[in-house]
Amino acid sequence: MVDCIIIGAGVAGVSAALTLKALKREFLLIGSANLSNKVAGAEKIKNYPGLDGASGAQFVQIMKDQLLHGGISVTEGHVTGIYEGDGCFFVACGQEMYEGKSIILATGVESVKPIVGEREFVGRGVSYCAVCDGFLYRGKTIAVVCTDREEEREVELLAGYASKVYLFALYKNCTVNLPNVEIVKGIPSQIKGGTKVEGIVVGGKEIAVDGVFMLKDSACDTLYPALRVENGSVAVDRNMATNVKGMFAAGDCTGRPYQYAKAAGEGNVAAHSVSAYLGR
Ligand SMILES: Cc1cc2nc3c(=O)[nH]c(=O)nc-3n(C[C@H](O)[C@H](O)[C@H](O)COP(=O)(O)OP(=O)(O)OC[C@H]3O[C@@H](n4cnc5c(N)ncnc54)[C@H](O)[C@@H]3O)c2cc1C
Repeated sequence: MVDCIIIGAGVAGVSAALTLKALKREFLLIGSANLSNKVAGAEKIKNYPGLDGASGAQFVQIMKDQLLHGGISVTEGHVTGIYEGDGCFFVACGQEMYEGKSIILATGVESVKPIVGEREFVGRGVSYCAVCDGFLYRGKTIAVVCTDREEEREVELLAGYASKVYLFALYKNCTVNLPNVEIVKGIPSQIKGGTKVEGIVVGGKEIAVDGVFMLKDSACDTLYPALRVENGSVAVDRNMATNVKGMFAAGDCTGRPYQYAKAAGEGNVAAHSVSAYLGR
């Protein structure tokens, strides 16, 4: 069991990792090898100390190098749930389950807000995890809402189970090309059903489906429903502690301003708080 599991490898997660390393704590940094698409997408950074006009791509490369030099690796994966154990947390990530004494949530903000019916049908046809739930839809018709090309592997996995996949690829240059996958134009507005999902609405028309997979950055309360969220952001105190003992949060997921400097600062504070929480 590690001391801490950091979920999300953007600026906040990387900052927390660098500080935990300096504090000689054992941790896992879970996220993407590319760290953060949001960071990479910035054209020119003018408001972060030390980066006078660097591009987001350069910033990502600097952070990657810094992790490498610090002997920190990113555990690649997408966390789909956090479960409380006896004085610890279990973190589900693909087919793996990791165990940590504490958590730092550094997941950024959801790139796509929940659509009508999404939260209501979680566990009744709406899933965030292809690896965990894909097999439930063997031979069935599903919709997949995907916000990032990095998730295309999961789409292909789902297409291996389902007989028909309606894919909403909410990013440029989708490369999925499979006979049972139909790419649907438009942004879905609603998930409908009775006791379970029956359809997804796009452009005013309903497509009949048995399930909907939302492959996107997660809102923290979908990872851990007892987490207190206020106005869509994780509620934290000055130590970046959430309402859950041993769980801390940093960066965009705690609210505005959505800026690198705030994310880095909060990641640093969260790591110090984790260390104080763990004690000697
Ligand atoms: C185009 C653009 C330009 C910007 N320019 C600037 C600028 O010039 N200056 C500035 O200060 N700010 C800028 N920002 C804002 C800045 O990018 C954010 O404030 C910053 O990236 C927040 O860092 P973060 O670590 O909190 O979140 P993010 O950078 O969003 O990182 C969170 C990471 O966690 C991952 N993640 C989410 N859920 C999970 C999960 N369940 N499992 C594993 N990983 C997960 C995400 O995929 C992401 O990689 C810009 C944003 C954009 C979109």
